[in-house]
Order: sequence, then structure tokens, then C-alpha cells
Amino acid sequence: MCIFCKIIDREIPSNIVLENENFLAFHDINPKAPVHILVIPKVHVESFHEVSAEIMSGITPFMQEVAKE
Ligand SMILES: [Zn+2]
Repeated sequence: MCIFCKIIDREIPSNIVLENENFLAFHDINPKAPVHILVIPKVHVESFHEVSAEIMSGITPFMQEVAKE
């Protein structure tokens, strides 16, 4: 199981900002900027190239929600 799946399963604790049925947003453990949030799809993918168009279409409104937080 990869690190992102472990974060989604709460096996690795993370500072979750927001989540919905498809995405999870959390603060980067090793931030390079004062606010560095990662958004990951909840389905396991090896890379973002493998994320389906259906899921990717939902990432924009999700990130807008994250930006409001
Ligand atoms: Zn995974």
C-alpha cells in the first residue's frame, strides 16, 4: 500500500484540510511554503496520468472548496 492510500485510510496521521467522496486534501508534512496543501484522489493511481477524466473533472471544484478553508 502506498503512502497516499495509508493517509486516506488514516493509517498515517495527517492534517486533513478537506475531503469528499473522491478527493482528500491535507497539509504537506514537509512544507516548502507557509501553506502547502496536497490534493490526492481517493482511488489508488500510480500517477496523475492514470486518473480518469471523470475524477479529474471533480478536482477543480474541490480545490476551490479547499481554497476557501
Ligand atoms: Zn496507493
